[in-house]
Amino acid sequence: MPSTDRGGTGLATPKRTEIPPQPEQAMMKAVAVFPGKPNSMHLGQLPKPSLDEVPDGRGVLVKVLRVGVDGTDKEINAAEYGAAPPGYDFLVTGHESFGRVEAVGPNVSVCQLEVGDYVVATVRRPGSSIYDRIGTYDMTTDDVYYERGINLRHGYLTEYYVDDPEYIVRVPAGLKDVGVLLEPTTVVEKGIAQAYEIQRRLRVWRPRKVAVMGAGTIGLLAAMALRLRGLDVTVFGRTAKPYLNSNLIEALGARYVSTVTLPILEGARKYGPFDLIFEATGASPVVFESMQALGKNGVLVLSSVTGGDNRIEVPADRINLEFVLGNKVMVGTVNANREYFEMGVKDMAQAEAQYPGWLRQLLTHPVKGLENWKSLLETLTTAKSAIKVYCEVASE
Ligand code: BGC
Ligand code: ZN
Repeated sequence: MPSTDRGGTGLATPKRTEIPPQPEQAMMKAVAVFPGKPNSMHLGQLPKPSLDEVPDGRGVLVKVLRVGVDGTDKEINAAEYGAAPPGYDFLVTGHESFGRVEAVGPNVSVCQLEVGDYVVATVRRPGSSIYDRIGTYDMTTDDVYYERGINLRHGYLTEYYVDDPEYIVRVPAGLKDVGVLLEPTTVVEKGIAQAYEIQRRLRVWRPRKVAVMGAGTIGLLAAMALRLRGLDVTVFGRTAKPYLNSNLIEALGARYVSTVTLPILEGARKYGPFDLIFEATGASPVVFESMQALGKNGVLVLSSVTGGDNRIEVPADRINLEFVLGNKVMVGTVNANREYFEMGVKDMAQAEAQYPGWLRQLLTHPVKGLENWKSLLETLTTAKSAIKVYCEVASE
């Protein structure tokens, strides 16, 4: 990950493995890793946070109910990236949260949050670039970035967290069973919103045929969001159909194509040309095929975080020529700010209305209790049929 420097913190701060317990301070369970040490996931402890950790009476205390895990958590446990907050040698993991507000500081208004609200917290916290300063911290140009549960900030695989209302997004009670899917949905929301924003260059853009590369959690959510926009969606995946993911895709009125029977370029000839392609396979060679599958004036959105060192040979002249002669554009997307969390809530609500019960079917692998972190990790790394693996931290 040379450009994002997930591991390097350059912090010369004192290390400590345990926080000395304060006399009457309540402690809580937390799932943590020692960044840089492979397979170091363990159950640790943290003091229960208090409202006054956020200045000016703006603290919001949230009881964690569910936390989803994904490929990023796998890589953090493999010590491929992730960094501990300053002053700690461990990092509490978990960035896909869902919880309920338990207390608010005196300066949190009811328009922001109230006790009892269901909420999801954003992941990244602002740095110092101009983008951070205008609330678009997902677009930071800083070398060091702060992400709860990933880089330099503790995450949500614990019992409680405290944060500023700016970073906590309300989820209607009608979505409480699927609220843990909001954070992954925001990845898709940001990518699609950016694509539409970019396409304003065309004065008039009426996308019709779109493709999603990958039928994992992000691919499924991208197919959902694109179907909600009324588009003709083709999802390319490796597995032969029928299986749960291809069934879910077809239930949206989208098309599933297994690349084993129909490779991407042939699929593009049959079902394209694609006005928009959302790449979410986690495999970088697919990017170069997607560049060729993209139609004239099209936009290709890249969302796969590929930490490896894969090398391939590509028809560079042809890809470049077609990009130039076709006015094509390609854009990378990472993280999401509050705006995309709010869009995600709206899309999830529309999905519940349009495809009732669909989102719930993504919640394939619940694991009860933080103390069962081993089973959480094992399910994440081995369950082949898993769409979303998550920890049921607490019932309400
Ligand atoms: C998270 C994003 C984060 C990205 C890069 C993803 O797994 O969902 O919030 O920005 O990893 O660290
Ligand atoms: Zn993630």
